[in-house]
Amino acid sequence: MTALERIQTDFLVVGAGVAGLRAAVTLAESGSVLVLAKDRLEESNSQWAQGGIAVVLSDDDEIELHEADTIAAGDGLCNRDAVRTLVEDGPAEVQLLMHWGTHFDREGSRLMFAREGAHSRSRVLHAHGDSTGREMTRALYVKASSIPNLRFESFAAVTDLLTASGEVAGALAFDGKTGKLVEIRARAVLLATGGLGRVFRETTNPDVATGDGVAMAYRAGAVVSDIEFVQFHPTALHLEGAPRFLLSEALRGAGAYLRNKAGERFVNELSARDVVSRAIFAEMERTGEPHVYLDLTHLADVPRRFPRIYETCSGYGIDLVKGPAPVHPAAHYAMGGVETDLQGRTSLPRLFAAGEVACTGVHGANRLASNSLLEGLVFGARAARAMRELAGAGRADRVEELDLRFPRIAEAPLRDIAWKYAGVERHGEGLAEAVRRLSGVEMGAAAAPVRLDFEVRNMHAVASLIARCALAREESRGGHYRLDFPEKRPEFQKHSLIARGDSGVRFG
Ligand SMILES: Cc1cc2nc3c(=O)[nH]c(=O)nc-3n(C[C@H](O)[C@H](O)[C@H](O)COP(=O)(O)OP(=O)(O)OC[C@H]3O[C@@H](n4cnc5c(N)ncnc54)[C@H](O)[C@@H]3O)c2cc1C
Repeated sequence: MTALERIQTDFLVVGAGVAGLRAAVTLAESGSVLVLAKDRLEESNSQWAQGGIAVVLSDDDEIELHEADTIAAGDGLCNRDAVRTLVEDGPAEVQLLMHWGTHFDREGSRLMFAREGAHSRSRVLHAHGDSTGREMTRALYVKASSIPNLRFESFAAVTDLLTASGEVAGALAFDGKTGKLVEIRARAVLLATGGLGRVFRETTNPDVATGDGVAMAYRAGAVVSDIEFVQFHPTALHLEGAPRFLLSEALRGAGAYLRNKAGERFVNELSARDVVSRAIFAEMERTGEPHVYLDLTHLADVPRRFPRIYETCSGYGIDLVKGPAPVHPAAHYAMGGVETDLQGRTSLPRLFAAGEVACTGVHGANRLASNSLLEGLVFGARAARAMRELAGAGRADRVEELDLRFPRIAEAPLRDIAWKYAGVERHGEGLAEAVRRLSGVEMGAAAAPVRLDFEVRNMHAVASLIARCALAREESRGGHYRLDFPEKRPEFQKHSLIARGDSGVRFG
């Protein structure tokens, strides 16, 4: 395959979610910016975020409390400097966002702060009830698209990073409109490609969340950290043929019950996500049922309080006022990713990462709900400031050759392997089986690859990384649960680290 077109820009931003958009606005002050999204601009995890954004802006809240809550959720693995940065930079970033036109819900003129599980104060801002991410990205996009030297390209899927003399020099993108490959050279590249939920059979994530950023950074030689930590959300809508639409935490926070088919409750609905997910799994196994039920019928005002959720369920024939919804756990959020410092720098010169694709260590082994939209803003802005400071052009003429081979495995069996062996409950034997099966997949050339081929290549790489790191972590902590090692072990109070060419997983 040959690249037919070449584009030059100062800064390349891969991804148009909260992190990419926030970074792009700051980058555009110092040069030309190209923002790529592999599908429509509206297709991102950010757009789907319902619950809200956590931030210390109310009178009775304190930075130290948000910091302590985040660290408690992270189960011993948070990077404390990253957490401090998140909670300290957060308020100014959210105020800037409001200045740029984001409307969070208010009571009169005062912002409304919701209380969520594991937050010790009411600190979660919402927009239009349950459309927070959509409102944030709308305002960020309006701001970004008003800047002249900032350009957007949709349906442009970056397939690989280009490297020269150990530095990242740009990226190769598959143009979905023409079916051609385009070579993009840039002074610095920001990965803001979001999550990896689609690696698993069951997920709340949109189709674009195939872990591309992690896979391409790994192929280029960057260090990937804590990738075994995946948060499984307990309550995704479970209907034949329908996407696994998320039934937000806020519903259980508001008093919704989880019931089995006989109508019995079987878990404290306000427990942590991983605890509830495992309880649902155990209940499904005990009863032989394919799902359990989320019951809101005793709650007042559901259509007004949760309009998007109510309407979506109605669209599938479920009236939440009258009856319960079938739910099932699903992969939701990646705590790990491409290792970065607090300025978004990865281990590869001129490559930066921010948002869900990155691992600053801010979430440790488990994310506190509503911290990830804030993470995208804070670390997107910080990465952009660091990228602007990069001296030199970084425009090597000759880039290293790419390995453009594809795994001979279809999407469905690949996602089944990840779900079965590296899902909510893991075991050493199953993880070893997953590693064996995935590493046994034959690799070969593809005559005229399409976007899905590139995505399966990435999902295969990411599933392999998750399985290898989950196998190496012989303990249970945060989102990682091992049936054969059900306890936390002090010797694993460390971050997993893996890079191409390493003989195995390191802990440091
Ligand atoms: C259903 C749901 C509900 C959620 N609710 C909340 C919540 O209430 N509060 C909260 O804080 N968090 C929530 N989250 C998590 C949060 O939405 C995400 O972590 C966050 O939005 C990620 O932002 P991002 O900018 O890193 O990536 P995203 O918003 O996912 O954006 C990724 C972008 O990268 C692009 N991209 C991906 N691969 C490529 C490629 N190869 N080439 C080019 N472009 C590419 C995509 O097209 C997209 O534009 C939720 C997530 C989901 C799925």
